[in-house]
Parts: sequence; structure tokens; C-alpha cells
Amino acid sequence: MKDGKFVEQAKGMERPLTLSIDIKDNKIVQIKSQTNDMSTLEENTLNKMSNRIIKDQSISVDTVSGATVSSNGILDATQHAIKDAGGNIHDFEHQVQKSEETNDESDNYAKWIKKPSHIDKVENTDLVIVGSGISGLSAAVQAGYEDIKTIVLEKNGFVGGNGLGVEGMMGAQTAMQKKAGINFSKQEVVENELKTIQYQADGSFWVDLVNNTAENIDWLQKQGVQFDRVDDYHHTCPLPTFHWFKGGRGATGYVPFMEKKAKELGVDIRTSSPVIGLIYENKTVKGVYANIDDQVVQINAKAVIFASGGFGQDKKLVHRQGWNTKNMLFVGMKGSTGDAYKMAIAAGAKDAFDRSAPLITNYIQALPLGNGRDLLSGGPALWVNQDGVRFTDESITDRNAILQSQPFKFIKHGYLVFTRKMFAKYEANLQDLTEEQQKSMQGIDQFADQDEERALRILDRSVKENKGNSLYKADTLSELAEKVGLPVDDFVAQTKRYNQYCQNGEDEEYGKDRKFLVALDEDPYYIARLDQSYAISIGGIGENRHFEVIDDNWNKIPGLYAAGIDSAMQYKEIYTINLGGSCCAHCVNSGRHAVMNATEYIKSLD
Ligand SMILES: Cc1cc2nc3c(=O)[nH]c(=O)nc-3n(C[C@H](O)[C@H](O)[C@H](O)COP(=O)(O)OP(=O)(O)OC[C@H]3O[C@@H](n4cnc5c(N)ncnc54)[C@H](O)[C@@H]3O)c2cc1C
Repeated sequence: MKDGKFVEQAKGMERPLTLSIDIKDNKIVQIKSQTNDMSTLEENTLNKMSNRIIKDQSISVDTVSGATVSSNGILDATQHAIKDAGGNIHDFEHQVQKSEETNDESDNYAKWIKKPSHIDKVENTDLVIVGSGISGLSAAVQAGYEDIKTIVLEKNGFVGGNGLGVEGMMGAQTAMQKKAGINFSKQEVVENELKTIQYQADGSFWVDLVNNTAENIDWLQKQGVQFDRVDDYHHTCPLPTFHWFKGGRGATGYVPFMEKKAKELGVDIRTSSPVIGLIYENKTVKGVYANIDDQVVQINAKAVIFASGGFGQDKKLVHRQGWNTKNMLFVGMKGSTGDAYKMAIAAGAKDAFDRSAPLITNYIQALPLGNGRDLLSGGPALWVNQDGVRFTDESITDRNAILQSQPFKFIKHGYLVFTRKMFAKYEANLQDLTEEQQKSMQGIDQFADQDEERALRILDRSVKENKGNSLYKADTLSELAEKVGLPVDDFVAQTKRYNQYCQNGEDEEYGKDRKFLVALDEDPYYIARLDQSYAISIGGIGENRHFEVIDDNWNKIPGLYAAGIDSAMQYKEIYTINLGGSCCAHCVNSGRHAVMNATEYIKSLD
């Protein structure tokens, strides 16, 4: 890199800042503003960001909380300065491992079983359910039928959690399937799932689940839950297991009916009431501490069921799972920050974190989110890593939408390479979604119409805006490689090899299906960095087949149960999405059965 002072524009929340960035001896040595009258917020943000960048010599540092736009603007400006100095941005992209992210945090979780310094109020009940999503509501209604007093505590100001966005659930040999003339055996489901998961899971969890689905769906319908139809989820499942909630959303088919039923049955559901700790005494769970109406409330209970929806909103835990969180988009409902996992570990639960799975897909910052099955998630495009070479069969997403992100866990960066012609052909159904729609995942499935012109318009605009420096266009392959700092010769050689495979109809490196072999044979070319979009985590708390939380010796922790995706022992490292709706089916099943087993335990104490 050449030494010098580089003047760059940094995008800010209200206005751009002009920065002068000094580079000396291959190092960023100073970042200063040339804009006068900086606000306190601008000044603080610049100070913090320049300290972080200079200290770590990295543009992969954390942004300043509450000033994300300005922080990203400073990072982008620094990136431009590095490029202007003739440097390679990859040399400045290392993530500095912070001790808090890499350390096993279990020691810190002790606070989750510590009594708060003051208690405003004490209440007594039989059962507390933590969370009111799919599993929490199924537990709540089930508890309503048992002869026990139940309180559901929900952190958000509304019930439903991610369950509001859930489209449907798996069933085998259900009444709806019989009516539709669908017939397959339960063991086919189990066989399929275990094969997909490489026989890593304890299959008895699958057998139990599949055996219960028909009765569970029947039961849900009796509670008022409404389903539209049953099919193979957009032709993606080998068997038609997917039972669609009415309107294609838990918000319209499941949540309102289950909430109503639970209340009718006398269950006390309290929103805006986060559980902040577990009462764990004499190796037994005895209730929870919660913030309710600005008061710290101690709720003594004979049993507690965790149904808090995993840790998908906790960046540190997602990072610990092995993902690069730098450019990650966190979709899904706020609230699922792993509170139950932290409480369970503090109480000595078996830590199943290492085998937990994510619901994760690829996305390109500069483009609206795709529906996960076309060019933007791989398929007919070419994927290369930071070395400019391929690293997997790009069409894995065709087999399982979640597989698309899996190989990205083990590389520094992955890029999608395509031509304009390919984009027009494969992304003709790309929708112009607002950021809010993308984040809420709304509209992702509404890809009814085809419009090549619209797709190319979105592409041109996206290249121009180039959000997150993630999308570039060039007339030659070498130029394309230079734009993102890939080794030019290796990248060009790889592309030529790949084009040859396309011509011959045989992928000699990864055996990609012939139908996905589309040559990059016409400029302009495009390259996009593929980042990940994280929705939910699945699993983490060790439990047995009765949804009782267990310790390292497989002994149950008395009074503690886990339902929904807080536990989910069927998925090991990967969320299969093989037979559609299995996760929701597990949530309903575990919610109900955790209550049945907890009730037995509660009664045994009397
Ligand atoms: C957008 C989306 C669509 C999905 N679609 C499907 C599908 O169609 N089929 C399928 O099988 N699976 C689907 N899944 C996966 C899975 O079924 C859902 O994530 C489901 O909502 C999980 O249910 P749950 O009860 O475990 O968690 P959630 O439904 O998320 O509920 C957890 C609740 O606990 C609350 N909570 C968290 N911490 C606390 C605390 N400390 N105190 C009190 N409350 C707390 C949260 O606020 C939340 O309301 C989908 C997931 C997402 C994100």
C-alpha cells in the first residue's frame, strides 16, 4: 500500500462526513473528520470507530450501538481509503476475537439463578411457562385441561413469538391427509429425517414425534386452530407432510385461537413480563423471578417449562455457534435471546449447545431478499471463496434450503458470480420488498409474477447503491476479481474451468446437476458477497424424551422442562427442513407433553 492521506465521504444518519484517512507503512494510522460543526453523537461515533479500527487494524470491528448507519459509513470510507492506497481489503477484514465472544460464558450465567437484590412481590402457582409462542401456547392450553394453576410469562408485549410467522406443521397419517387421499407410512418420515441428519440424532425422539402428529393436529383443531390444506410445501418435501395454517401464518391460523382457548380455560397469560431468573434451590427448580409491571416478582412454582424460542437474537451465542456475525442479518422476532438456555446451564443442565442448529439462509445486502431457491441462493450461479475457487456444489439449496449456508461457516467469504442474462432469467420473480418486509420475512413467498425488466431494474439500482459494498459489475472477469480483491489468475482460471464443465454437461469438481450448469459466457459480469441471515437457533438445552431437562449424567433436574426450540433434540447441527413443518410439530408436541409430565411431577409433590 502506498502511504498517504486519503479523503473519503462517510455516509451518516443525517449527513455525510468528509474523513481524511492516513495510511502509513501498510497501516491505518489516523481517521479524522474534515467536516466542521460535528454533533456530539457524530464526534463520539467517529472517536470510537477510529479507535477500534486503528487498534485492531480491521474494518470488521463492531459498530457503535445506536449509531449503526454512521459507523458503517466510517467503515465503508476506510475500506475505500485502503483500496485507493492500492491495498487488499481482505487484509483488513479479520475479526478480532473478543474474550467475551470466545470464552465459554457458562460461568457468567450464574446470575440467572441468583436471587435479585430486592423482591417487590411474591406469588404462588403450580406451573410457570416461559414464553408464549408455538410451544408456550400449546403448553398453556394443555395446562388449562389439567387440574393445575398456570401462569404464562411473555417477554414481548404480545403473544406468539416467531410462531406468528410460522406457516404450518408436519403431520403423518392425519385426518386431513386421509381426506385428501394422501397415504404414506410414519416410518418413511423417520427414515427420511434420520438419513438427512446422518443418523446423528437419537431416533427415538423422531419416532415419538411422528407417532403423535396426527393426534396433535386433531387436538389443535378441537382447540380452534385452523388449517387450509396439506401438501409438500412448494414441492420441496419428499412427502406431503405440510399442514398449512389458515392464511399461511401462525398469526392467522394458530396464535389467536390458542391464546383465546388458554384464557377460556383459566390460564393466566401476562405479556411484557420477562422472566429474569430461575429459582433453583437444593438442586430443584422452585419457580422464577420476573419483571412484571415494573416490579420484581418472585413466582414460586412447583415446575417451570422453558418455551422461550432459543437464542437466535443473541449475537454472541450465534458467534459461538461458529458463524461469522459481522454482516449477519438477524431476522425473526425480538425476544429470543437465549434466556432459558442461560438459566438451564446455570442450573447444571446438560449443555447441548455444540449440537444446536440454526435456521439460516444466504442473502446479499445490496439486493432484496430472495425466496431462497433461485440464483441468489446458488443453484445455477457460480460460488467462489476468498481464494477465488469453488468450495461446494452451488445447487445444494435445491435439496434443503438450509444447506445453502452450511459451507459458508467454514470459509472467510463466499461470493456469487453471475451474468446479467442469468439474472434476468432466474430472478424474474424478484420482488421489490421494503427493508421492513424483508426483515419480517413477509412477502418472501409471494413470488407469483415474472418480470425480467423489473428484476434488471432492481439489479441496476442495487449495483449503484451497493449497500454494504456487496455487489459489483464489470465487463471482464479480471476486473470483477479486482473489485473484491480476489486473486485474479485463480478466479479467472476457475471460471474458465467451470464454463468448460457447463459446456460438457459434467461438473468434474463437485458433480453439480447438469440442469444447474449454466456458463458465464457473456458480459457484463456481476459478483456479490453472500452474507447470512439468521432467523432462529434450535436446541441447546439437554433433555430426555419426556422433555425433562437433564444434567450431564442424564439425571433430570427436578421441576424443569423444555419445549419448542429451546431444546429440540431431533436436529443435530442442522435444521433439516426435509419433511416440512417438523419443527412446529415438535413445538406443539413438546409443549403438550412437557405439561403432561410436569403435571404428574406436580401431583407427586402433593
Ligand atoms: C419466520 C419463521 C417461520 C417459520 N416457519 C416454520 C414453519 O412453517 N414450520 C415449522 O415447522 N417451523 C417453522 N419455523 C421454526 C419454528 O417452528 C418457529 O421458530 C417456532 O416459532 C418456534 O416455537 P417456540 O415456541 O420454540 O418459540 P417462539 O414461537 O419464538 O416463542 C418464544 C417466545 O418466548 C418469549 N421469550 C423469550 N425469552 C423470554 C423470557 N425471558 N421471558 C418470557 N418470555 C420470553 C419470546 O418473546 C417468544 O414470544 C419458523 C421460524 C421462523 C423464524
